[in-house]
Amino acid sequence: MDTIAHWINGAAVLSTSGNTSPVYNPATGEQAASVGLASVAEVDAAVAAAKAAFPGWRSTSLTKRAEIMFRFRELIDANKLKIATLVSNEHGKVVSDAMGEVSRGLENVEYACGISELIKGSYSEQAATGVDVYSIRQPLGVVAGITPFNFPAMVPMWMFSNAIACGNTFILKPSEKDPSAVMFIAELFAQAGLPAGVFNVVQGDKLAVDTILGHADIAAVSFVGSTPIARYIYETGTKNGKRVQALGGAKNHMLVLPDADLDMAADALIGAAYGSAGERCMAVSVVLAADAIADELVAKIAARIPGIKVGPGNEPDNEMGPLITAEHRDKVKGYIDGAPADGATIVVDGRDNLPADGYFINPTLIDNVKPGMACYDDEIFGPVLSVMRVSGYQEGLETINANQFANGVAIFTRDGGAARQFQFDVQVGMVGINVPIPVPVSYYSFGGWKASLFGDTHMYGPEGINFYTQGKVVTSRWPDPAQSTIDLGFPSDR
Ligand code: NAD
Repeated sequence: MDTIAHWINGAAVLSTSGNTSPVYNPATGEQAASVGLASVAEVDAAVAAAKAAFPGWRSTSLTKRAEIMFRFRELIDANKLKIATLVSNEHGKVVSDAMGEVSRGLENVEYACGISELIKGSYSEQAATGVDVYSIRQPLGVVAGITPFNFPAMVPMWMFSNAIACGNTFILKPSEKDPSAVMFIAELFAQAGLPAGVFNVVQGDKLAVDTILGHADIAAVSFVGSTPIARYIYETGTKNGKRVQALGGAKNHMLVLPDADLDMAADALIGAAYGSAGERCMAVSVVLAADAIADELVAKIAARIPGIKVGPGNEPDNEMGPLITAEHRDKVKGYIDGAPADGATIVVDGRDNLPADGYFINPTLIDNVKPGMACYDDEIFGPVLSVMRVSGYQEGLETINANQFANGVAIFTRDGGAARQFQFDVQVGMVGINVPIPVPVSYYSFGGWKASLFGDTHMYGPEGINFYTQGKVVTSRWPDPAQSTIDLGFPSDR
């Protein structure tokens, strides 16, 4: 059985820690590989390689950095299917969905190809007499990314594309559940000409994460994962003096107003709730249906569910794969088990007709869900769509704004005024207007509010460039030495 290695200083390095974690094929439940988990010394070795590579990489010209990013972009594009297949094998999502993941990640690499433009400072000539002032942005040094299982290729690309283009060197700690895709991406980076040590992967668990959080040579940490761990990463990292951005979990709502096109809303909900088996931080997990159209909308969703093709991700006709682990499948099933006792109604039961093998739950629809029920209050992260009936816009808005999570939200309506009011009022970081999964394009930034984000900066796009650089302002003067005088007063600009 294969053992998945680290990538340190430009080469694959097998762990000698003696600790490993199984990597499964979620469609069969069989172990497919094992991954070696980093010891403290192995994390130290990766950080030492990144630290040694930093002076050379930060001195590399912007033109040369952009050239490497362009070459890397071409290699990712040419190997999209291979990356998507690696993702599908270990995550379980269908290959077509994994291809979408790689494409969205690639957009971040493409954005970073424009680093020469993105990192520009500003210049003020004659700010005072004979004085010029200019600003520059410089890389932080060694920075780290800690990523979740659900987008094993895209989320790392959100982070390392900008971090590396800005001149930092990078340590990635991917999820131990699906660690293979980033190892292949590391090889592509090397083929693109990235110097050894600029991009490193340490496979690992809590020990590796804690070593990163406490490491004196790491300047900043980006994290994406669940809310309790995001909070822990933020608190621990900042206490240790690091710059931290930590994106957490979600409970995304879609508000459907009575004037919406209900067939369009139902189609959108099927994709947004059940795509990737609901294991997306931007999945819609609650539809707030205005009373006037709720029965009709529930019927339209229920009618579409039997048409969803569920099965192994590597079979081309399938549209939805299994969940990541047996443990996670049981957790998702627990929310469905508990819903009727809480007073909700199971309309379509995804516990029925399951394949004998693998970690499957079929698409599930639960009606009459209310705050206070576990299936509403918690992030389920599975193919379970809850319907909450609301009187209309105001109750829908108040429900969304009362939720602890605030990652994504959508409104479906044909009323432009209502949509505009909604984007003004709603307390959520990413808003879709007739768009169910409003993941921002790479030249905007991604991030939620409230318990979905710890830290001040959203990820990628302009905020990503800011996160991975620090500003410096230079005030310069070239006086004639003959006119030099002593002046103890505070320098005046006039
Ligand atoms: P997770 O929090 O369990 O794990 C994320 C990372 O943290 C992994 O690399 C893992 O190894 C590490 N980790 C886990 N437990 C740890 C601990 N006790 N101490 C230190 N490190 C630990 O998340 P997951 O299950 O891999 O991913 C799913 C979660 O990620 C969901 O909550 C989802 O909403 C969230 N997510 C959020 C976004 C976003 O942009 N807000 C995007 C994707 C996923």
